[in-house]
Amino acid sequence: MDRLDLPAFDTELDKDIYICTHYGENPADHHGAVVPPVYESSLHVFEKYEDFVEAQKDEQKNYLYWRGTNPTVEIAEKKLAALERGESCKCFASGMAAISAAVLAFLHSGSHIITLGNVYGTSFKLLDYLKEKWQVEHTALDDFSPESLQAAIQENTKIILLESPSSVTFKLVDLSAVAKIARENNIKTIIDNTWATPLFQKPLLEGIDVVVHSAAKYLSGHSDILAGAVISDTETMKQIFDNEFTLFGAALPPHEAWLLIRGLRTMPVRMKQHEDSGLSIARFLQHHPAVKKVNHPGLLENESYKLGKKQLTGYAGVFSFELLDGSYENVKQVINALSFFQIGFSFGSYESLVLSENNGSNKEELRRKGIDPGLIRISPGLESPQSLINDLNDALNSVVR
Ligand SMILES: *Cc1c(COP(=O)(O)O)cnc(C)c1O
Repeated sequence: MDRLDLPAFDTELDKDIYICTHYGENPADHHGAVVPPVYESSLHVFEKYEDFVEAQKDEQKNYLYWRGTNPTVEIAEKKLAALERGESCKCFASGMAAISAAVLAFLHSGSHIITLGNVYGTSFKLLDYLKEKWQVEHTALDDFSPESLQAAIQENTKIILLESPSSVTFKLVDLSAVAKIARENNIKTIIDNTWATPLFQKPLLEGIDVVVHSAAKYLSGHSDILAGAVISDTETMKQIFDNEFTLFGAALPPHEAWLLIRGLRTMPVRMKQHEDSGLSIARFLQHHPAVKKVNHPGLLENESYKLGKKQLTGYAGVFSFELLDGSYENVKQVINALSFFQIGFSFGSYESLVLSENNGSNKEELRRKGIDPGLIRISPGLESPQSLINDLNDALNSVVR
């Protein structure tokens, strides 16, 4: 069997599991080594000058120099494109490099961008930077309804940048509805699909134009790399490869790609565990007297539950909850009382993590962003869910008087 051809599968999940474990690899290319090697080589040499000249005519298809293509990185790209059911993928040195490239690809001076939901903090800073330096305006919508989106569209709107679920509050955006409105108005849609991973959400199939990822999270899953990816149709990718990718030079190093490939192999089993853990912890938190609200789209009571059933095939682990007493003191006490959950940025890895946006002096800013001051975000790791529940129970009991 040619391992580059996808055999027939009973379900889409079966296909995804095959992509994660084997697709894009061919041991015969590497002396039968079952794990592909790390091509830690900055350039590729040619025996004949005319072959070198010929190869330069398509730097995207030929191996010439690591800032363009690399055989190890290419395996990760094939897997991610196939998982998203997209035509083409390019890996970047970080999620932000991928997001910046995708955004810049569709912008002109004087363009306008709409964001849906609390997009990732640094993505928002990128938009502020574009506004200050290049007069690219943006509108951040908290209301994701088609009516409010339609009303926010301007003559010069070029991009809708979204996350679903939204960062921090975990509200879902109706992807096919947004894609339809965007197409009618000649606007490109870019979604940051880091939370759901392509296992649980395939935005391109809903009509979204471009998917971006921070592969430091669930895709790699072990908190040991920084990587990003852009997935799109071939034509868009050719533009991004020639411009934003090649010119800014944020290529993914092959060793990082190798770790990403290793992480992807176990992603389906990891995601199942994260999903189960997240849901059982969310259900537990719902009934704790110190908790006001739980923001998890998989809870029946959640405002996004119905939409989730339509467009998600599973739930990632990370979600948030709000303390009844949202004071900085209380938030601090709960977080410090946790022992399994370590304090730090990022999510989606083997270790459980916790953080809050409340820093004791940003009440106004949080209110403006629609974030409850008592909000705590947790990313359940791969520890036993019961241990994590016990840990949260003890920490929350310490603030119930
Ligand atoms: C982490 C993250 C990013 C940024 O990715 P980096 O790899 O850290 O540059 C972007 N979006 C989301 C949703 C993230 O969680």
